[in-house]
Amino acid sequence: MKIIVCIKQVPDPEAPTAQFKIDEASKRLRPSKSVNPVANPFDMNAVEAAIQLKEAAGGKITVLSLGPESSADVLKQAVAMGADDAVRIDMDTAVPWNSFLTAHALSAAIRKIGQFDLVLCGRQAADTNAGQVGVGVAAVLGVSCVSFVSGIEPKNGKVEVERIADKGRELLEVGLPAVLTISNEINHPRFPTAMKLIAAGRQEIPSWTLGEIGFSVEKLLSEWPGLEEKKHFIPKPTTTCEFVEAETLEEAGEKLALRLRTEKVL
Ligand SMILES: Cc1cc2nc3c(=O)[nH]c(=O)nc-3n(C[C@H](O)[C@H](O)[C@H](O)COP(=O)(O)OP(=O)(O)OC[C@H]3O[C@@H](n4cnc5c(N)ncnc54)[C@H](O)[C@@H]3O)c2cc1C
Repeated sequence: MKIIVCIKQVPDPEAPTAQFKIDEASKRLRPSKSVNPVANPFDMNAVEAAIQLKEAAGGKITVLSLGPESSADVLKQAVAMGADDAVRIDMDTAVPWNSFLTAHALSAAIRKIGQFDLVLCGRQAADTNAGQVGVGVAAVLGVSCVSFVSGIEPKNGKVEVERIADKGRELLEVGLPAVLTISNEINHPRFPTAMKLIAAGRQEIPSWTLGEIGFSVEKLLSEWPGLEEKKHFIPKPTTTCEFVEAETLEEAGEKLALRLRTEKVL
């Protein structure tokens, strides 16, 4: 089975909230310098899922990231875990990146990599929680997509996929090729050995320019109706405090219950 896993480098989501500020001018979340860039946690679940599929049915895993030079680190981590190949698409910082453009750029790189059975993405990126890129890649490539995947089983040239539904789980049979967005319930990503980490750390990760994958941002933007983020902000908490006036505790309890019922809390 040929599997491509898309990995995004994000600011460490475990860092304290106080280490993040919203830059209103650029409308971006800005982590402080002490916040390390790490692999998006859901993407490591996707890498682990790919390795388990390869262990069960054989095949090849290619990991892919669109990002600056530092994102080679998340690809090396995946190689240390067991991925066979890695490629970074060099992120031109002049491009106004968003989920739409990212999905198109990743799709162009996937076409350049060649024939595939599965593309695995994380269910969402920890810095934006957009959850759009995986489904976007499926739409651009014209293949099926299953989101919030919590289990994958190869079956007769297809895959049986369990997904997290609003209430309970769904089991789907999916023809290949397909894109799956992976949720954390699927597995616990393995920790690579120190030897594998050192070996992967020494590896040169090839990088492709946007031109080399045939991605034209000008063409895309000229055909796209557009989507503009108007504001990025933390909503101001609006809490009001109301006292229940009563002579006795029983009366207070009764009035409180009535008030909560009026507010549809009870
Ligand atoms: C290191 C880095 C710095 C960035 N800085 C800026 C910035 O300063 N200003 C700006 O406008 N934009 C920036 N971006 C781009 C912006 O975050 C994109 O909108 C983003 O890549 C699109 O993903 P999303 O957050 O919508 O992901 P989601 O849709 O939430 O991601 C779902 C899944 O898609 C895959 N995926 C998403 N993005 C990538 C990727 N880049 N490479 C590989 N797989 C991916 C992953 O599997 C991920 O789990 C940056 C991106 C990166 C990687």
